[in-house]
Amino acid sequence: MNEVSLKGITKYYGSHLAIPPLDLEIPKGKFVTLLGPSGCGKTTTLRIIAGLEQPSGGELTLAGKTVYSGRDSSFVPPEKRGLGFIFQSYALWPNMKVDKNITLALHQAKRPKDEIDARLAEALKKVQLEQYGSRFPSELSGGQQQRVAVARLIAARNSILLMDEPLSNLDAVLRTEMRTELKRLSRDLGATTVYVTHDQVEALTMSDIIVVMKDGVIQQIGSPYEIYHEPANLFVAEFIGDPRINVFDGILEQRGDRSILKLHGIEVVLEQVIAREGGPVICAIRPEHFNLHEAAMTNGLAAEVDVIQPTGSQTILSLSTKETPITALIPRFVETWPNRKVWLEFVARNMMVFDPKTGKLIT
Ligand code: ATP
Repeated sequence: MNEVSLKGITKYYGSHLAIPPLDLEIPKGKFVTLLGPSGCGKTTTLRIIAGLEQPSGGELTLAGKTVYSGRDSSFVPPEKRGLGFIFQSYALWPNMKVDKNITLALHQAKRPKDEIDARLAEALKKVQLEQYGSRFPSELSGGQQQRVAVARLIAARNSILLMDEPLSNLDAVLRTEMRTELKRLSRDLGATTVYVTHDQVEALTMSDIIVVMKDGVIQQIGSPYEIYHEPANLFVAEFIGDPRINVFDGILEQRGDRSILKLHGIEVVLEQVIAREGGPVICAIRPEHFNLHEAAMTNGLAAEVDVIQPTGSQTILSLSTKETPITALIPRFVETWPNRKVWLEFVARNMMVFDPKTGKLIT
């Protein structure tokens, strides 16, 4: 049975339809991320699951229990849904010290004192705030307050966790550490986690399942591998991947028993025959998927190295060609390029082809 189930959930703000009928099934114990650009409805969807927002219609069940139904307008309030959540505004109680903020729910649930103390110590340690238990939230930085909210989640051990950009206020090092910590927390609790972010790295690194949204509409539901390597449409392909995927106008030609892609004067024989008529298509290739050659080659696209950006283990090359700029990624540290000329080989198995009208993946 699915732990979180949305059936035909809609949300209007006045006459603005923010969420058209949305169906989403989240299996128990999975880490599911809602990913998409600003305004795509991720936060609204999460707030609806939390009970902080009343939907305009549809049905929502949590752990098999209906918590909202548009049919009879039944609505279970957030505090009765048994959820743990962290939101962008972390909603700590300003008049309570950190200790109390973390353990309030445990006190309310009348857990034994020893257990509360142990869970508090464990939670503070995990977020590296052991020394801060007796401070008030106003005496902490934004990032520290965010970690208190995470500690509260660790201590509460709910079986459904909702998180809205919980790492947005942290510096890069702490963000990476907390990413690991939240993934571990979710796994160790066996929790079902619904996580909202517009950060594709968080989505790819943390999730079992990614739900890509645009304008309130789900574009694709898949594993990180599927979302990255088998994007359902051009929107998903362009949204995921940093640096961005390279996109070209191309022509599909059916020649004998072969399908050939023609773009910028080169021809790529595809591995599979595409069952459609020849004509314009959109081709895309990820920056790490070119073969780079330093000597001229037939059927290679000639390019010049323009800007070189080493990031440590990889280097981003901004290349210029006669027709279009291209980004390539190479898996080593490079600072200079002796001869600025390179030839790009387009490898058939790395090419994605999209329908220019619908944007849908063809192959
Ligand atoms: P972000 O990443 O910027 O938080 P989001 O994907 O979470 O964006 P939502 O906050 O869910 O997007 O907003 C979805 C749509 O609903 C947007 O068009 C937004 O302007 C609108 N919206 C959200 N909250 C309200 C509100 N309280 N009143 C009116 N419109 C709203």
